[in-house]
Amino acid sequence: MLRIALQAKGRLNEDSLNLLKESGIKVEESKRKLISVCEGFPVEVVYLRDDDIPQAVYNGIADIGIVGMNEVSERGFKVENLFDLGFGKCRLSLAIPKNEEYTGSDYFQGKIIATSYPNILKKYLKKNGINAKIEIITGSVEIAPSIGMGDAIFDIVSTGGTLISNGLKEVEPILKSEAVLIGNPRISREKRTLVKQLIFRIESVLRSRGKKYILVNVPNDRIEKALKIIPSMKSPTLLPLADKEWSAIHTVIDEKDIWEKTEQLKKIGAEDILILSMEKMIP
Ligand code: ATP
Ligand code: MG
Repeated sequence: MLRIALQAKGRLNEDSLNLLKESGIKVEESKRKLISVCEGFPVEVVYLRDDDIPQAVYNGIADIGIVGMNEVSERGFKVENLFDLGFGKCRLSLAIPKNEEYTGSDYFQGKIIATSYPNILKKYLKKNGINAKIEIITGSVEIAPSIGMGDAIFDIVSTGGTLISNGLKEVEPILKSEAVLIGNPRISREKRTLVKQLIFRIESVLRSRGKKYILVNVPNDRIEKALKIIPSMKSPTLLPLADKEWSAIHTVIDEKDIWEKTEQLKKIGAEDILILSMEKMIP
């Protein structure tokens, strides 16, 4: 039985649970419990604060975990980085009051920087020869400058909206982050096999995200043109129609391209286009 650590509540909780669900793992719904059992895979879920997940995985309290790369870097525990999960995307950036003129990283010489990520910041400052004071605060870092708790902040940014509403501007993006699957490096061979199976499922789910299945009828003499518009994964699936002059092409396209591609297909004489949703892509 594997044990996976997930964020108990917060930004990563829902996406993490959805990923398990789409991977065929049904987590018993019970928000109050610390540990949930699952159906569909020999795994149990332990809910923790995201700050504690790298440590829990390192210590073997959990075998694997889902957490932001930012937390993994900050905590510094030597866990295995097994898989990038594509959600929870953000960056850690330095930001200053919006009316200040930014002159490059030397701006921070002698300044006080408020952050919940002192280790990552320390490394950056050292690497760039900047002598600044780090003020560690655990929540609402973005309000620090306005209440006099620092000249600048080093914090998570995704859209930048929070910075703007606090009169700040982002001046140095330092670390890109997304949710990652991390693992304890010392797990047994049996557990490693389970982790591999789980990653295989996750990969199939992620591969199908943002993809659609398309079926389109084309006159035989336009097949080549059509395949330039919708290239296939390996070799195109072509099915003859009852009308000998026509064939159907089946393939997968990116959701974002649907309207542009269907218009192009129409232009070359394609008809009866069906777009279907996709659940899994297993190579
Ligand atoms: P916890 O109670 O578990 O300690 P938290 O308040 O520290 O939660 P959240 O705000 O829920 O953390 O964010 C969890 C993770 O989500 C972050 O560490 C980061 O990896 C990711 N994330 C993605 N976008 C954002 C964003 N706009 N703001 C904050 N975190 C984000
Ligand atoms: Mg946290």
